[in-house]
Amino acid sequence: MIRSARARIDLSALRHNLGVAREHAPDAKVMAIIKADAYGHGLIKVAETLDGHVEGVGLSCLAEAEVLRGSGFNGRILLLHGAEQTQELPRASELGLDLVVHHMEQLKGLEDVRLDKPVNVWLKIDTGMHRLGINPDHSRDFLTRLSGLDNVGEIRLMTHLADADDINSHYAKTQVQIFDEVVSANGLESSCANSAGVMAHPECHFEWIRPGIMLYGASPFHLGNAVSENLRPVMSLTAPLIAINQIRKGETIGYGRTWTCPENMPVGVVAIGYGDGYPRHAPSGTPVMINRQRTDLIGRVSMDLITIDLRNVRGAEIGMPVELWGEHIGADEVAHASGTIAYELFCHVGAHVTREYVFTKS
Ligand SMILES: *Cc1c(COP(=O)(O)O)cnc(C)c1O
Repeated sequence: MIRSARARIDLSALRHNLGVAREHAPDAKVMAIIKADAYGHGLIKVAETLDGHVEGVGLSCLAEAEVLRGSGFNGRILLLHGAEQTQELPRASELGLDLVVHHMEQLKGLEDVRLDKPVNVWLKIDTGMHRLGINPDHSRDFLTRLSGLDNVGEIRLMTHLADADDINSHYAKTQVQIFDEVVSANGLESSCANSAGVMAHPECHFEWIRPGIMLYGASPFHLGNAVSENLRPVMSLTAPLIAINQIRKGETIGYGRTWTCPENMPVGVVAIGYGDGYPRHAPSGTPVMINRQRTDLIGRVSMDLITIDLRNVRGAEIGMPVELWGEHIGADEVAHASGTIAYELFCHVGAHVTREYVFTKS
């Protein structure tokens, strides 16, 4: 059955945003990050749209790569976690995946197995994120051992920035300096930049950029504004208005009675809630759009419903679509109001919410 909440995915906006990434880093190759079901946009459709337009795609893990290769995608796939277990190595090699190596266990795995086909390796250096990566001081040893293995094909270097999204932070520069020392000592192709790095830190572009969120048209920056950054939203999430109720002054709306009507007023009910991925923490005042007019969410978000203020809305009718985010309501705005980031909003849109793919303009 088709649900009434739907996420329209504009694949031409994805292409446009890729173009923006290329404008920022014209000499770099693009490893488009499409982990987590392409940030909730749909792995296969997004990969098909990028195929032939990027030099590779990045996924988290083998399970995602199985799905993507199974769809017929033949381009370069980098597993950002590398092989999570040594047992995955033969399958990763069969699928022709590039693997991150971020830990001694993974190096030992490559030394211990026999692969029919060598895998390309991206050695991940921890320059300050302190999540995945080896100590820069160990890079020489890792590279010597990796380059001696028949199981290993091409070798590249990568690192990840911790707070490039804060344009006032100098930490990215520090990380790039540390990375640069390893890179210059070894002369290998390298990769450092996430979307924020692509847009704000040209010194971190190196040979390969790894944009994620910007491809989907949201800003990578804290309090950023996608429109002013020339990014176009790819996802528009809408749901229908299913009731208009006249509520009396002084009455309260919804669970917890958090919102009181200041006057007799029309209240709209929209068929979407946190069960579909709309953030439960969105407070009264979070913007929504109906019939081309912005208005406010009022009261608490329920599992499958939200309530909106229709006082100043002209022409609202039952059945009309309400935009939760997309072309007119920035996902960044909703995310900020809800104490989260657009990344999380996109990823949380339920699998049951119909994705409708369009290509509006090239
Ligand atoms: C997710 C991810 C990216 C993309 O980050 P954005 O902020 O979405 O651009 C890049 N590199 C790695 C290692 C990642 O895990």
